[in-house]
Amino acid sequence: MIRINENFLKLQASYLFANIAKRVDAFQAQHADKSIIRLGIGDVTRALPQACIAAMHKAVDEMATDSTFRGYGPEQGYAFLREKVALHDFQNRGARIEADEIFISDGAKCDTGNMQELFATDIRVAIPDPVYPVYVDTNVMAGRTGGFQDDRYDGLVYLPCDENNNYVPQLPEERVDLIYLCFPNNPTGATIRKDQLKEWVEYARANKALILFDAAYEAFIQDDELPHSIYELEGAREVAIEFRSYSKTAGFTGTRCAYVVVPKECRAFTSDGREMAIHGLWNRRHSTKFNGVSYPVQRAAEAIYSDEGQAQVKALIDGYMKNAAYIRQSFQDLGFDCVGGENSPYVWINGRRDSWAFFDLLLSEAGVVCTPGAGFGKCGQHYIRISAFNSFENVEKAIARIQNVLS
Ligand SMILES: *Cc1c(COP(=O)(O)O)cnc(C)c1O
Repeated sequence: MIRINENFLKLQASYLFANIAKRVDAFQAQHADKSIIRLGIGDVTRALPQACIAAMHKAVDEMATDSTFRGYGPEQGYAFLREKVALHDFQNRGARIEADEIFISDGAKCDTGNMQELFATDIRVAIPDPVYPVYVDTNVMAGRTGGFQDDRYDGLVYLPCDENNNYVPQLPEERVDLIYLCFPNNPTGATIRKDQLKEWVEYARANKALILFDAAYEAFIQDDELPHSIYELEGAREVAIEFRSYSKTAGFTGTRCAYVVVPKECRAFTSDGREMAIHGLWNRRHSTKFNGVSYPVQRAAEAIYSDEGQAQVKALIDGYMKNAAYIRQSFQDLGFDCVGGENSPYVWINGRRDSWAFFDLLLSEAGVVCTPGAGFGKCGQHYIRISAFNSFENVEKAIARIQNVLS
């Protein structure tokens, strides 16, 4: 008898964005004349940088000639890209990371979701609340949790992030083995200072724990004091894996390219206490299950690091950050407490009411789609997330409609 992995039955039926899409479709079906402005799902809206497009075209042409054609590439990514990543994203910022510690992939979603495969099923996992749902759901699938009750899975250690701690989780009272951190954060847009991140690195070192640091929004950081990488902190190489993505940075959500950094000193332990390098384990897993990112896409990603590419990416990000600042200011002017939008493309708004009710109000009265905070965890129940991923024109229009409804 073919039996299923019953951990899947513990998952909550409706994935957040599917539920949103269902409500938006239902509204649009009833109000065909109303234009809807989407500030919900975290997807970029602006075209790829020209430098990336030119590099991709050139790579496609290489594929059309036998002498320059490429078949299977290295699963870990082409050296031309891994070397640029190590130099520009880390070494130039004072973080000691080598090209062979970079694993190119098709997404930080996949990487953050897959990494847990390397670890035992009976470890203690700490997850911020609110959180990017992928960290939770992949641990549920793997059997690291019990059932779902009172908006939470049994067996996970939740780290609440709210006004009381400025949306930066505090060290847990109980001992944990695997810690997910994401800064700048999705959904809250909050950031972490170096001294705060240092506490986590020290915790991981003292407790033989591991930090999975998701820096998918690193490129949105405007404040020079904030860390872009966890490897800017001393001692992090042994206890942290970092995830990056070109999705939000350079508009690659539909093109697909990201990477994970696994330093060679990064370690985990066998049940009898022997230290193992995670680098070798991840290399084995990655090369067994993944075929590498396509050559033209890696060339497009490489072009981000050219002078032209850097300038174009900055222009993209500056555009989204202008939106973010406008959204944050407008909600503050309406009397709401907000976080985010200063070093991230998300504004997290305390709506002081049920988040799905606020979502429905903005959809039905303003025709604006946001994301209800409850979809990111129990601590998000009274919040909504507004994304800056749209044109300034649409953001202005959305804010004007919201002001009409709420003031
Ligand atoms: C968007 C996002 C990612 C990654 O996206 P990919 O498109 O899979 O690279 C990772 N983490 C967070 C928190 C995100 O919001």
